[in-house]
Parts: sequence; C-alpha cells; structure tokens
Amino acid sequence: MDQRSVRDILAGKTYFIRTFGCQMNQHDSERVSGLLDSYGCLMALDPAHADIVVFMTCCVREAADTRLYGQCNSCKSLPPSPSGKRVVAVGGCIAQRDGEGLLTNVDNVNVIFGTHSIAHVAELIAEAFRDGKRHIRTNEHEDTDAMSMPWHRETQYHAWVPIMTGCNNFCTYCVIPYTRGRIRSLPLDEMARQAAHLAAEGYRELVLTGIEIASYGRDLPGALTLADAVETVAAAAPQMRLRLGSLEPTVITEDFCRRAAATGRVCRHFHLSLQSGCDRTLARMNRKYSTAEFLVCVERLRRYFPGCALTADMITGFPGETEEEFEDTIKLIEHVRYDALFTFIFSPRGGTPAAKMEDPTPKEEKNRRFDRLCEVQNRISLEIHQNYIGKTMLVLVDGKDGDQLTARTEGGRLVRMHGDDALIGQFVHAKITGCTTWSLVGELAE
Ligand code: SF4
Repeated sequence: MDQRSVRDILAGKTYFIRTFGCQMNQHDSERVSGLLDSYGCLMALDPAHADIVVFMTCCVREAADTRLYGQCNSCKSLPPSPSGKRVVAVGGCIAQRDGEGLLTNVDNVNVIFGTHSIAHVAELIAEAFRDGKRHIRTNEHEDTDAMSMPWHRETQYHAWVPIMTGCNNFCTYCVIPYTRGRIRSLPLDEMARQAAHLAAEGYRELVLTGIEIASYGRDLPGALTLADAVETVAAAAPQMRLRLGSLEPTVITEDFCRRAAATGRVCRHFHLSLQSGCDRTLARMNRKYSTAEFLVCVERLRRYFPGCALTADMITGFPGETEEEFEDTIKLIEHVRYDALFTFIFSPRGGTPAAKMEDPTPKEEKNRRFDRLCEVQNRISLEIHQNYIGKTMLVLVDGKDGDQLTARTEGGRLVRMHGDDALIGQFVHAKITGCTTWSLVGELAE
C-alpha cells in the first residue's frame, strides 16, 4: 500500500498504546507513536476511545504472556470505537517470538509486528482497516533504518537516545538475542546529529540507551566503545545531563571511567547488571564476570564518581541455586550496599538454555528467598535515604503525582515536594526533609 493510501485510511483515527517491560520497549512505543502521528492519527488516553489499540510486549517479565492475553481479550468488551471499527495490534518481543502462534491464545488481534518491523506498523494497521484481514510481519532482520523514523517523545525534559540494539551475549535465561538479534550500533556522526538536535529542542537530559550498551561499537569499524559514544554526545549537546542505561560490568574499565568522568556530564548513577552474587550461579547464567571482578568495577565507579548511586537487577531462584549460593548473593548485597535493586524470581523463557535446566527448588522456597532479598535491600535503601535528610540536592522536576511535584536527583532518586507547576522541566534545589524506602520527601530550597 502506498503512503498516500495509508494516510487516507489512518488520518483522524485515534490510537492508544500500552507498553509492557523494558526501556527498549518504551522507546519502540515512542517510535510507533511517532509513526502514527505522522499519518495524522491522534493519541487517546484510554483504549475505550481508541480506533487502534497497540500492545508493546516484553517476554522477560514473569507472566507477561498471560497478561497480554488478558489485555487483548479485555478489548472485546470495550465500547465501540469513535470510527466504529477497532484494530488491535501486538508488537514487541512476544510478537517477534510467537508471530502467528499468538493467535492460538487470542482471537481478536488484527496485526502482529515483530521488533524488526516497526517501520511497517502504520501500513499493516491500514491494511487491516481496509480488508478486515489479519496482517503479520515478523522479519528476522531490521528492514528499515529505525533511526530515521518519526518519534513521539513522552516528555519534553529527558530524551532517550538509542545508541545500539541487539545483544551477542546469550545469557542462558534471556530471550533477547533470539528476539532482537545481534548488535547494531548507531554511527557516531548520526549520534552527534541526534544529540545536537535534542539540545536545540530544549531537552535537559539525555539517556543513552540500548539493549546492551556496554557492547556499543563492536560491530562498527575503528574499535569504537561506549566511551566514544559518551564523549561524542557530551560534545554535541553541551550543558545537558547524560544518563547511561543498564551497563554490563565488563565495560567498567579504567579507560571508560576516566573518559566518562572527564566529560563532567555523566550522572552519578549506574545501573550495573549483576543478577547473582555467586560465581557458580553466574557461570550457569553465562554471565561474563566473576563477583571479584564485579567488586573491582564497583570500586572503580566509586573512585571516579564519588557518591554515585548504584542499582542492579537480581534474579533469585535460578535453576540449581542452593541455599549457600543464595547466601552469597545476600553477602554481596550487604557488602556493596546498592541504593536500590530490581529483583525477580526466575521464570523460564521458552527456547533458552535455562528453561531446560534441572530446577528442583520448590516455588515456596524461591518465594522465601525473594522475600528475604527484598527485606535486606529495603533496609539498606531506607538507611541510604535517611542519610540524605538535611541535605540540599539539585533535582530535575519531571512531573506531578497528585498534588505534589516529582523530581529526580542526579542519582535517579525520586523526590516528592510541593511547588508550582511552572517548575516542571526545571532544575531546582530541594532540601530533603524525609524519606521512605523508595523515595525522598523534600521542599524547595531558597
Ligand atoms: Fe539478555 Fe544477557 Fe544480552 Fe542482557 S546481556 S540482553 S541478559 S543476553
């Protein structure tokens, strides 16, 4: 179908997108949104008011499939859409993995598009409106330059810059290398162009993101690394705060820390993927570092970025995890003292090696370990937050929750405080007056 026909069909239609899972999915949703906007569609805040309902799926989170089926089925009971016809589309990792197979669990999906087919979503949806048939596209490889697609950004204060996609690591529990393919990095000149454009548009903070940004540049000529990407963006977008997405410990070298710190712009918050504090478990996960190497990375980061906040993902109940292995994880957490952890109970993903491993630990025992892990981390998070009380911190006000403003510190901590809506999008100083385990309470400082 040509672009003009797509526009004729889609112009004026309303769309709603629900995103599950990771930052990469949120970024893809912004692309889908930008594409639909460019054909004259209008965003709706409720699926009941939408002609097009899009679900961007993630297959990393537990029970993601069941949640998706529930969401799709709930579309059947929505009131008629404004145009009288509704198209339900499913994208993201589950769509890429299952393709047509999705239809064995849901019967009201009109469009299925994989992670490499986002550029075609408008066309697929238009086809579904025109002929009422199902349209499915789940290519194995990217079939367009995703970086050149239009983009609807969710906020005007911070913007994601996807600097790479794909992953070559093949951790045994992860489906991403199978659904998102191998590493593809954004060339530095294009990265600089995007960063300069975002700076000119008035964004305050850029987040360098991707599936596994530590591997940035491995597919490009010239032995480029993440340090080159950081320096490029820092030079192209002066005065903007830079955040880095999730990092694999292997990237935290002396060279990286020295060069990133020298820009003076990288936020002192690092999400260092760990997953387990036990070497035997890490080996079964096919992670590429030991706990001793990990601790060297933590020491390096704290030396180059004093006072930096550290967060990590942690999996409990990985197949074969013994009580002793679990206790190693607890010891490491107590030693590192993360600001926060994102904790998960292992959930097998079809087609991954971990899904075939012996897993004799009962579910109740896994739940107990998970609760204990959360209990230990919550205590540490609260203690760290209590240390902020009385301090004045520079924060970026990024929105509102109820009658309070929400803001983020350089370390990524959420601060709630009262203040004028006009402060949204501004850097202000906040005096921290209280805290909970998960957030800080502040007031505007003089
Ligand atoms: Fe998955 Fe491991 Fe790659 Fe992360 S590094 S995306 S967990 S395979």
